[in-house]
Amino acid sequence: MALLTTDRRVKREGSHYRTPQALWISRRRVNPSPASCGGAWRRRAATAPQFLRASYAVPRLFRDLFGIECLSHAVFVNGKFCKDPKDVTEKDFFSSGLDIPGDTSGRVGSNVTAVNIEKIPGLNTLGISFARIDFAPYGLNPPHTHPRATEIIVVVEGTLYVGFVTSNLANGDNRLITKALKPGDVFVFPTGLIHFQFNVGKTKALAFAGLSSQNPGVITIANAVFGSDPPINPDVLAKAFQLDKKVVDYLQKAF
Ligand code: MN
Repeated sequence: MALLTTDRRVKREGSHYRTPQALWISRRRVNPSPASCGGAWRRRAATAPQFLRASYAVPRLFRDLFGIECLSHAVFVNGKFCKDPKDVTEKDFFSSGLDIPGDTSGRVGSNVTAVNIEKIPGLNTLGISFARIDFAPYGLNPPHTHPRATEIIVVVEGTLYVGFVTSNLANGDNRLITKALKPGDVFVFPTGLIHFQFNVGKTKALAFAGLSSQNPGVITIANAVFGSDPPINPDVLAKAFQLDKKVVDYLQKAF
């Protein structure tokens, strides 16, 4: 076991412990597969609940069309029906219309056109999706989070002031990380963190985003907190946000 736990360090330092066996064990542990770890993988598959078995059965990297066929075409995975590979066509991997600007006439002056599993069935289980984000002058994509995805954006047009807030630090603080972006700039919003994008220019702005989930989800903070249905008890919000209840009432009507 000592050899296993020190294996990577020994490899880096190039000591005499760098035996072929140590390297083989290391590779096997880092990159397990049915071929190299034999029984463990199969045991895990056999004891997994039925709905998880497909995902344990074969590593996704060994299947081209994993997303659409989901390993076994007779089952649902992530609530989506898995297709018989012989019925798959280019339509399962295609979407169009992302050249068309979204309507930014709403009160925040932005619009997100999501291209996720609802538009491309072949994304099922692949852990990726895409979006177009349009901004009117001074338009805002208001503070929100994606519970299941990291987001990476590229600005194509305009100037965006973007940022995210870290989760609570040990001392209770939350750090704000911001940056002004111009065309060609890329920025990352880590999974689950509250973030925003604000067009600080007099002209419209445009960005495209990749998200690390087929179904990233979105929680718009103000809407979720002040616009839930049914509404959260105003006493809760007054205490939580240190507001007068009249202000809470005003905000609950606004959302
Ligand atoms: Mn986002």
